[in-house]
Amino acid sequence: MSEHMYEITVIGGGPVGMFAAFYAGLRSADVLLVESLSELGGQTGNLYPAKLLYDIGGLPGISGAQLIDHLRTQVTHFHPEIRTATAVTAMTRTGDHITLTTTQGEILTRTVIIATGGGAFTPRHLAVDYDPALEGRSVLYYVRDLEDFRGQAVAIAGGGDSAIDWALALVPIAKSVHLIHRRDQFRGLESSVAQLRASSAQLHTPFLIAQVDEAGAQLDLTLQEVRGDATKVLHVDKLLVNYGFMSDNKQLRNWGLALDHAAIAVNSQMQTSVPGIFAIGDVAGYPGKLKLIASGFGEAPTAVNEALGLIYPDRKQALHSTQLYH
Ligand SMILES: Cc1cc2nc3c(=O)[nH]c(=O)nc-3n(C[C@H](O)[C@H](O)[C@H](O)COP(=O)(O)OP(=O)(O)OC[C@H]3O[C@@H](n4cnc5c(N)ncnc54)[C@H](O)[C@@H]3O)c2cc1C
Repeated sequence: MSEHMYEITVIGGGPVGMFAAFYAGLRSADVLLVESLSELGGQTGNLYPAKLLYDIGGLPGISGAQLIDHLRTQVTHFHPEIRTATAVTAMTRTGDHITLTTTQGEILTRTVIIATGGGAFTPRHLAVDYDPALEGRSVLYYVRDLEDFRGQAVAIAGGGDSAIDWALALVPIAKSVHLIHRRDQFRGLESSVAQLRASSAQLHTPFLIAQVDEAGAQLDLTLQEVRGDATKVLHVDKLLVNYGFMSDNKQLRNWGLALDHAAIAVNSQMQTSVPGIFAIGDVAGYPGKLKLIASGFGEAPTAVNEALGLIYPDRKQALHSTQLYH
């Protein structure tokens, strides 16, 4: 067991946990950031790195990957300790500190900020059998780099926000873009849907993918009309599946914290039901909660300042970064 006692341990290296760890450094706290995956970035870095985000103040359009790069630069400014590939499995409050049990041993800390988001996540898979060897090659669940699709015929399965975002991002890069959705209506921002309908993307609705066959280096996708008899075959280089993601937050129930549905219940100080343990970002629940990066960025300074206020009740709370950021 490490004998070191951290002042603040942030659990979860998604955008909100990264910003909290940075802000803790800004307040000169002895902070540790723990992330279960081998890379920081959370949903933003792993699930939609190529998507452009438009709803973060001061950033009029930034990709998920760029945002995580900026956060990485920001969080390392104060050299916090960062442990990746380390998952927290249990936490116990004893006296004036908390013991975290992790897959890499125990951690002692005065306070904890939980920023575990949706927990461990996996993409929802295509509901048809296909050769598993195609996965990662021509059947894809993530977009790592838009350039991988330059000049190619690309089919996208799905009708939600990120399927539309992928289609719009690929139209100027790919040779052709086909969007396959089981309904005629798309679930996306009205402005994005209007842009999609005005674009050169070919919309196949209401259709489902019934069969995926390898055709040399390409794919033959057999589409079946929903509640109809029509079928068609698309010949494409790549299929991007975007049926959403499943997340597993079951372990939250074992952490002895009061829950608000599937989230950790917090008050306006981001304090959970256990003193010294705070929650922010997607994992935190309170009336009116919005699961947005911008909301989590607001919750992080509150949690950090409250945590330090608990450890040092007499320390004056700093409000503006210009006084501290050298
Ligand atoms: C497809 C898609 C598009 C989106 N688009 C937008 C958008 O345009 N604008 C917007 O504001 N939001 C968007 N969101 C939502 C946004 O991604 C989330 O609000 C944001 O990621 C929440 O950040 P977080 O740090 O709280 O959690 P996450 O990003 O979920 O990060 C949590 C991290 O904690 C780690 N973790 C989990 N459990 C443990 C554990 N036990 N121990 C250690 N580490 C652990 C996880 O591995 C993960 O890295 C989108 C989400 C999706 C899925």
